Amino acid sequence: MGNHFFDLVRTRMLGMDAPFALLGDGSRRTYGDVLDESGRFASALVGLGVKPGDRVAVQVEKSFDALMLYLGTVRAGAVFLPLNTAYTPAEIEYFLGDAEPDVFVCDPARAVALLPYAEKAGAKLETLDSDRGGSLVYKADAAVASFEDVPRGPDDLAAILYTSGTTGRSKGAMLSHDNLASNALALVEYWRFGNRDVLLHALPIFHTHGLFVATNVVLFAGASMILLPKFDPEQVFKDLPQATCMMGVPTFYVRLLQDARLTKEATNHMRLFVSGSAPLLAETHREWRERTGHAILERYGMTETNMNTSNPYEGERVAGTVGLPLPGVSVRVVEPETGKALEAEEIGMIEIIGPNVFKGYWRNPEKTKAEFRPDGFFITGDLGKIDAQGYVHIVGRGKDLIITGGYNVYPKEVETEIDEMQGVIESAVIGVPHPDFGEGVTAVVVVKPGATITAASIAKTLEHRLAKFKLPKQVFIVDDLPRNTMGKVQKNVLREQYKDIYA
Ligand code: ATP
Ligand code: MG
Repeated sequence: MGNHFFDLVRTRMLGMDAPFALLGDGSRRTYGDVLDESGRFASALVGLGVKPGDRVAVQVEKSFDALMLYLGTVRAGAVFLPLNTAYTPAEIEYFLGDAEPDVFVCDPARAVALLPYAEKAGAKLETLDSDRGGSLVYKADAAVASFEDVPRGPDDLAAILYTSGTTGRSKGAMLSHDNLASNALALVEYWRFGNRDVLLHALPIFHTHGLFVATNVVLFAGASMILLPKFDPEQVFKDLPQATCMMGVPTFYVRLLQDARLTKEATNHMRLFVSGSAPLLAETHREWRERTGHAILERYGMTETNMNTSNPYEGERVAGTVGLPLPGVSVRVVEPETGKALEAEEIGMIEIIGPNVFKGYWRNPEKTKAEFRPDGFFITGDLGKIDAQGYVHIVGRGKDLIITGGYNVYPKEVETEIDEMQGVIESAVIGVPHPDFGEGVTAVVVVKPGATITAASIAKTLEHRLAKFKLPKQVFIVDDLPRNTMGKVQKNVLREQYKDIYA
């Protein structure tokens, strides 16, 4: 038996001299460097006593070394467990206690603060920064580059990735070698990735989008990436001429649209723009198409499943939809309470089955059991429908569904109406406790600077467009919506903030 994931990386690369990454200092790393450096990290980890199945928890800045640590961990047969760089020491304490890693790697600047938590969780503390510094970099540099990959089968764990915590406490999703490999292979084909592609990589690498979608697609295509430490429009416009494709969260696209440098000429040579992690407004899709001539390709996935659906590469990319099930993935929409299958166009719970679906929540068999149907489908928690053409539409999360006076209100329907009004940038519609209705529909709206639109005029316009029970009982104008690091709107924060308005 070989190492299921990394054997595929080896067989799909073009050669030792083929480029893998262009770094900020102008230097390049080849696939030969990928083999050597990931081999050194694998050797260093084994030297520290890491055994197959052990977790290697990592909270480090984005860098080539960080990616090599990911691959080295997988080659060593261990389980890569990346943590959001924004987590505070108290949060890290929780994650380390939950994951019980053998090794915890953090930035040298945080080592003193985090050492007690590493010790408490029984983990060895190592450090790594984005500039070739840190104890683990030192150990890797001293280790041998040739490493015999630890055998791992398709169902062995390669990673535990915590969910974004948009709806509550983050859960650890256990992902196998084949969960990652099958999805990367499907995406390479579906999005026509080839070894001449150059991906502009501006996403964080502690989340499924930047780590698995972006990095694994590059690796499995034998392609290369421009590795940016973070999303910065200045840098994006500087590097765009060298790139062939970009992956981003919707806020990337919104911000680039605000820049006069975004033109047809600047993007002529690009092959593909992909969006995901949060809903892309249909208006952003339209504006992007007008300005650049490119139709952004929106796809839908989650930490637990990697990618599920995608708009087609050829064929129509329909704004406001997340496209068609990926090859090998089945999507169905059911009545949430009973699991009964629904017809096309009917709204219900989105459920998924396929080689992409995770092995369960780490140390949480009850939750795992609760989120799977007896026939193996995973209950995503997202509500949506499949239209007559087979395109999947997401209308919001089950937890965000508003039940008012016994009626279901899908926030997205109300948000779409508000977002189309002149002067509105975006909106979030939430349900908050109401003494008569159970929940009261409430709209929180961000308007363009200098716009004349008011809370009262928004409410008035909606009266002509929506059934009475869907109308917001109150509309609030705010400067911006609360978002987490992945650019997702935190409706639980808004619900908390407005919880007493009808009391
Ligand atoms: P948590 O599960 O901890 O509450 P989270 O669900 O935000 O956090 P992720 O796994 O990062 O954590 O996000 C997956 C979710 O993101 C999906 O379930 C879906 O709600 C949303 N999502 C992803 N892509 C899209 C998209 N293209 N359109 C709409 N929603 C999307
Ligand atoms: Mg989730």
